[in-house]
Amino acid sequence: MSCIFCQIVAGEIPATRVLETASAIVFRDLHPQAPTHLLVIPKIHYDSLGDIPADQVEAVTGALYAAVRQTVESLGIAESGYRTVINTGKWGGQSVSHLHVHILGGRQLGGSMVG
Ligand code: 5GP
Ligand code: ZN
Repeated sequence: MSCIFCQIVAGEIPATRVLETASAIVFRDLHPQAPTHLLVIPKIHYDSLGDIPADQVEAVTGALYAAVRQTVESLGIAESGYRTVINTGKWGGQSVSHLHVHILGGRQLGGSMVG
């Protein structure tokens, strides 16, 4: 299995997990860009949003965002605020081809979404 995030799901490489649901796991980003920088991933491998079977898009994305909400509430950053980002493909700046939602928080983030 070559996908690094699938290896994290399988427990084959270490990650600092903060939450697990039936279909998703949440762990700390190896190179945090903010005091709180987490990645929310489906346990099943999808390269990106466009790789999810059409009839499962709502279930998969809904489960990911349910995990986001559970995470920010449990870490206490729901009130202060945070940002979620999904980078997709080459021009979107995606470097790991396993669908993931970034959660960034713990400091005032810049006003621009554009990198
Ligand atoms: P992308 O650039 O694809 O949106 O985000 C990939 C993220 O995965 C990056 O922020 C990067 O720091 C993180 N990352 C890459 N490899 C690993 C790893 O082995 N473990 C963890 N925890 N994060 C990783
Ligand atoms: Zn994967």
